[in-house]
Amino acid sequence: MTETENLSLYDIYGSMVFNDRVMSERLPKAVYKSIQNTIHRGETLDPGIAETVANTMMIWAIEKGATHFTHWFQPLTGSSAEKHDSFISPTSDGRVIMEFSGKELIKGESDASSFPSGGLRSTFEARGYTAWDCTSPAFVKEHTLYIPTIFLSYTGEALDQKAPLMRSCDLISREALRVLRCFGNTTAHGIVATAGAEQEYFLIDRELYEKRPDLIFTGSTLFGAKPPKGQELSDHYFGNINERVHAFMKDVDVELWKLGISAKTEHNEAAPSQHELAPIFSTVNIATDHNQLTMELLKKVALRHGLVCLLHEKPFDGVNGSGKHNNWSLATDTGVNLFEPGATPQDNAQFIVFLCSVISAVDKYADLLRASVATASNDKRLGGGEAPPAIISIFLGDQLTDILEAIANGKRAAKRLGGVIEIGVSTLPPLPLDTSDRNRTSPFAFTGNKFEFRMPGSSDCISFCNTVLNCAVAETLRKYADRLERAEDVNLEVKAIVRDCMRKHKKVLYSGNSYSEEWRIEAERRGLWNLPTAADALPRIGDDKNVALLSRGGVLSKVEVASRVEILLQNYNKAKNIEVRVMTDMVKRQIMPACLKYAKFLSDTILSMRSCSPSLDVRCESELLADVKRFTSEMTDCMYFLEKAYLALPQETLARAEAYRDQVIPAMEQLRAVVDSAESVVARDYWPLPTYEQLLFDR
Ligand code: ADP
Ligand code: MG
Repeated sequence: MTETENLSLYDIYGSMVFNDRVMSERLPKAVYKSIQNTIHRGETLDPGIAETVANTMMIWAIEKGATHFTHWFQPLTGSSAEKHDSFISPTSDGRVIMEFSGKELIKGESDASSFPSGGLRSTFEARGYTAWDCTSPAFVKEHTLYIPTIFLSYTGEALDQKAPLMRSCDLISREALRVLRCFGNTTAHGIVATAGAEQEYFLIDRELYEKRPDLIFTGSTLFGAKPPKGQELSDHYFGNINERVHAFMKDVDVELWKLGISAKTEHNEAAPSQHELAPIFSTVNIATDHNQLTMELLKKVALRHGLVCLLHEKPFDGVNGSGKHNNWSLATDTGVNLFEPGATPQDNAQFIVFLCSVISAVDKYADLLRASVATASNDKRLGGGEAPPAIISIFLGDQLTDILEAIANGKRAAKRLGGVIEIGVSTLPPLPLDTSDRNRTSPFAFTGNKFEFRMPGSSDCISFCNTVLNCAVAETLRKYADRLERAEDVNLEVKAIVRDCMRKHKKVLYSGNSYSEEWRIEAERRGLWNLPTAADALPRIGDDKNVALLSRGGVLSKVEVASRVEILLQNYNKAKNIEVRVMTDMVKRQIMPACLKYAKFLSDTILSMRSCSPSLDVRCESELLADVKRFTSEMTDCMYFLEKAYLALPQETLARAEAYRDQVIPAMEQLRAVVDSAESVVARDYWPLPTYEQLLFDR
């Protein structure tokens, strides 16, 4: 029995988090009040209280079993980083005391040279520091007090994912508040962007995993013939969860709950061995931290159950890949969701303005939004007929689209809307929150009171896409606020805003099947961006309009943007480089030898049969042998082409990424096709790798 088995959920939930309750119980009233103002109202942190908070935090953490503390941050590698220090401080008389100062809480020194900076700093001046982010609560995990931080260079450049995210949150809060004031709201003090990241993943048997170098080194299979049964029967989606997986999920829940992560729904996904976990949403900053922790814990807990959790976007060819649906919305600090259609005309006018701000933002910055989720692994999933294509469009549903059209055209809305839509006069009809009419193929769908961005990959950190979303919407809101603040008649101005928005940005609205070829053609006709690979998408981040957007609110400077593009392209190149090396290594040292062994077995069989009786029919053996030989010859050719393309890769980052896209990836695909064909003729006993059947169905 585990230590937590006889504890109730109430005891477990948030038990390892230095949360509001703990702070209110343990901190002196004035200190508590001061820190609450920083957390909830964005007031500058009073350094005078740091000492008290640090000491209280340490005592609490030691009670929870901590001996160490760490500044926890998210460098541009995509994962989280941490450096542990113990609380121990030796005394002159040979004892130790536990110490944790305010300075240690607020700021940490970190050698930045081993983290990607995209040329922002040269190594000799590679000093960076981490700064406490008190808006995301500290927690204890594995005997360590984790302090969420942002990571900056000494000259103030952001070296991580979270600094820009937090800056973008401030920006959208400011601009959204201005718009709210125009509608007479005087009570809200801040606006928060909220997010809930639905996490998809695969679970496979650990022993099988360990026999596949491709899974070990790249997180996905680079070879694998299709199993006789895939997901065509749709019997896995929401199907019964098997016992081993169930035990795993139960364990994951407990671990997440301890950290105050409200894992809520868990179910099987479309592909065999694929599952999903959805938390209850929170502020994007906390949601980002929680998603990083969720990914880490899914992997760790899986190992305890003899399983491996694959977060890769496309671990298996021919079955669905994994994504991370990023649900996003805006709420006032008093908890009112701004994308909830209202009950009064005034509320509705406000709702419509916020809706238009998203439509304009997403259309104008579609390339940037696409690029914010562009990685080598996500390339394998997007556009595969099972995930959104690489084209950004918005699904609003017919009813809302009609309403916007009606307002824009100054016409009466269609009858089925239940009357005339007059901003500021009548109310909107109740909008369906019904999931049945949702469009599951849209990359960016309005789902009743939030938007669901479905492009992010399962292994991605959700920071950057939310930073982009926040910045783009903030920028539109800034312009709307300028207009509304100057307007003599707010309602008339709202109509003008809707009209302008629909005229310029209606092209991004689409309610049909986004997976279809028809849409690809239509999108091209409409002039929408189609950026199929990361090599196409990432350079768009550096486009003038996008740099202007990111630098305007001080979110990322021009140099910071350039360094990020460089890092992201390098990450792409590195991922591809590993794939090529693993592929060629597996072919040379496992797959070819297996084929040759089998060929030898066949030729030996033929020889011995012939020596028994020259007239024996050896057609079966000969044909099999001919097949194997044909595939090994083709493999040799494909290897030659791949190695040639690989050796010819240019050094310059972007040119290299493009050459991977144009030369190396097609050569990899050809090699894979031959290997997969070979797998379907080589006897099972000879094949050196666990097959798709075993990986996907043996648990
Ligand atoms: P599905 O998309 O699978 O039908 P749900 O509608 O239950 O799932 O919600 C999916 C996710 O959206 C959950 O993680 C939920 O917490 C999150 N979510 C709900 N409301 C909001 C909101 N206002 N802001 C951000 N995320 C939200
Ligand atoms: Mg969803």
